[in-house]
Amino acid sequence: MELWQEMLRQSVDSAKDLVERFGFDTETAEKLNKLFHIRINPYYLSLIRYPNDPIWRQCIPDAIELQDEKAPEDPLNEEADSPVPSITHRYPDRVLFLITSQCSMYCRFCTRKRKVSDSTKINAKFIQRGLEYIAAHPEIRDVIISGGDPLMVTDYALEKVLAGLREIPHVEIIRLGTKMPCVLPQRITTKLCRMLKKYHPLYVNTHFNHPWECTPEAERACNMLADVGIPVGNQAVLMKGVNDSADVMLELHRKLLKMRVRPYYIYQADLTKGTNHFRTPVRVGLEIMDKLRGHTSGLAIPYYVIDAPGGGGKIPLLPQYVLGRNGKDILLRNYKYEIYTYPDVEDATVEQHPVERKYMRKHQNGRRKSVSVPNSAEGTEEKVLVEQAPVGQVVK
Ligand code: SF4
Repeated sequence: MELWQEMLRQSVDSAKDLVERFGFDTETAEKLNKLFHIRINPYYLSLIRYPNDPIWRQCIPDAIELQDEKAPEDPLNEEADSPVPSITHRYPDRVLFLITSQCSMYCRFCTRKRKVSDSTKINAKFIQRGLEYIAAHPEIRDVIISGGDPLMVTDYALEKVLAGLREIPHVEIIRLGTKMPCVLPQRITTKLCRMLKKYHPLYVNTHFNHPWECTPEAERACNMLADVGIPVGNQAVLMKGVNDSADVMLELHRKLLKMRVRPYYIYQADLTKGTNHFRTPVRVGLEIMDKLRGHTSGLAIPYYVIDAPGGGGKIPLLPQYVLGRNGKDILLRNYKYEIYTYPDVEDATVEQHPVERKYMRKHQNGRRKSVSVPNSAEGTEEKVLVEQAPVGQVVK
């Protein structure tokens, strides 16, 4: 048995453990374990510094989860885009391929908790059907292997999936979505990396949410992946009491770059049942992005996205940098809130999408205002008409 497998066996993984180690009453512990199974491996547990700290909040259940009954179990409506049980086919050229329901730590905020930890919903017998679906759809050029955590399966089982995908000529790139470098970095072994590098082009997207997760062990794991030529990206989730401050996000993203991990997304928390206490206003995410851009390297800046409820896909959100137009000039503000004008090129071919035009006509009437802006060339001020920012955007 490998070290990571031995560590998994020592996980906190029952209602009884919650009662004995964290002082829960038995009834609450059992209800929480039923809502979403508990598993915390000893490595991740060792990162907790004090009760209710940002690590604790991600892995130790909270009785407040039981009060959140209205939120959906499948907020992104993945089931509607699932032609076979292991596949979600939402975007034209790529699919999500689920190969296991298991994870080395069950994150209390998990979006896919309706399936995760339940081996009747994702398991090995669905893998062949997934491969057949991908082979039958030549438009699929990008496969994201996920779960659960795909690195919960053995190297042998994972290699069978990778080899099966590489036999399909139209699959150009393969991505692995795994939280292991963060939650159980001992899973990244020399043997695993030697196997993975046979299946390039291969990318890894991992999932760090807080700078305390950027430990020497995690750094070692990320470096091992990078050393075999695998670009590693990070997808963080914005969560109240975990990382809802610009200082924490700045530190996290700077540390990730030092570990050779490229920040990719910050997700607004989804509306998943039992996770409402993690949600933050969109304003918080926009303020964080506002305090990242310009204040640190562009390499450290991810996209801030909302995965649209009901299955609309990822929608990027940005603080407002374009303030409006003054004739031909575009009014812009920089990260220091200094206003600049950019003389745009006249372009008669640019047209608004009909849906956008209709929406703007309906919603933007009366939302323009006149503001004074400095004319730096002449040292004067002039009045210009600018569009007001939509609700929630950062305008100072
Ligand atoms: S590792 Fe990913 S799939 Fe597993 S519980 Fe955490 S968020 Fe969910």
